Amino acid sequence: MTALPYLKKARPWFAEIDSTVLQQNVKRLDTAYKNFFEGRGFPKFKNRSNFTSFTYQMGVKAQGNKIYLPKLGWLRFFNSRSIPTGFTIKAATLRKRQDGWYVSIRIEDKTIPDYVKKPLNEVKASTPLGFNPERSRRVNSILGCDLGITKLVHFSDRHQIDNPRFSTNKKARRTLKIRQRRINRKVKGSKNRKKAANKVGRFHKKITDKRTAYQWSVANTIVSRKVDAIALEDLNVSGMLRRCQVKTDEKTGRFLKNGQSRKKGLNRSISDASWSDLILKIEYLAVKQGKVVIKINPKYSSQECRNCGHTDKSNRDGEKFICTECGYHEHADIGAAKTIRDRALETCIERSRNIVRGDSAKLAV
Ligand SMILES: [Zn+2]
Repeated sequence: MTALPYLKKARPWFAEIDSTVLQQNVKRLDTAYKNFFEGRGFPKFKNRSNFTSFTYQMGVKAQGNKIYLPKLGWLRFFNSRSIPTGFTIKAATLRKRQDGWYVSIRIEDKTIPDYVKKPLNEVKASTPLGFNPERSRRVNSILGCDLGITKLVHFSDRHQIDNPRFSTNKKARRTLKIRQRRINRKVKGSKNRKKAANKVGRFHKKITDKRTAYQWSVANTIVSRKVDAIALEDLNVSGMLRRCQVKTDEKTGRFLKNGQSRKKGLNRSISDASWSDLILKIEYLAVKQGKVVIKINPKYSSQECRNCGHTDKSNRDGEKFICTECGYHEHADIGAAKTIRDRALETCIERSRNIVRGDSAKLAV
């Protein structure tokens, strides 16, 4: 914040930019460095062409189909959702997308109370003393969700949600291939090449929009289930997307097959499903409804036998789960969802036990 006056002197064209916008960008840099020092990667350098969004803190006014942006003046815009009366504009973020500029306005109504996350120990676990897996199968206060590719979500109550594979289905892949080829056939640096590239960009945007809309509806179905808590996998998506390690022949030094080409297809499917975005939406809607989201370590959740606890890779055969020890069988992903639910239940019980231990005097009353 304090460096701004110096920066303004060094770059006179900063005067054309609204002061609150500049402040916001300093803030962004600050969070980027904070993230870095907390071990989340070095900040990316942004030049003018990949700087695609900025935020106003003050001075934005909207009237009908016109919006006032400081230093830019009144602009015409498509008012997709009018601002309800009684709200004040807190900030406005402008974002450049493939087919134009979008503005999102943050509003505040002081009469609405802040949402508070429900603490974990308030989840009603129906068997608070003594965990019995047999009984837990009947507990429906927690919904376990297993995220996947063939189906986007498997519920512990056997319900499934389809994965439309917006960018990796046959039709989308074909369209993308054709449009990509059209770019490659045009002269580099030409206007027609730019036009063709723009078309690919618009297609990608359409896919993103469709996916976002679908995810909101999926998150809504999950959250509106009659449960107190939703158990999800604690995923490490970027770890899953990592490339396979390079394998080389020790004698000749030539590269050997390491399964990367197969992994590439899987990586694309994982990106297309974008589980982490879905999880964020579920968490957002859950808080609004006063429901708890419990994140569970999914380790071996699809390999562990739910009957005898035998954990082995060979238990799973595609969609089927057959225990090699006791012969218990179940749909692999639904079984995983149930395991996730049970693990969530265990953590709830553990928490409530600790509470009981801590305030045992209160319990006696
Ligand atoms: Zn078993």
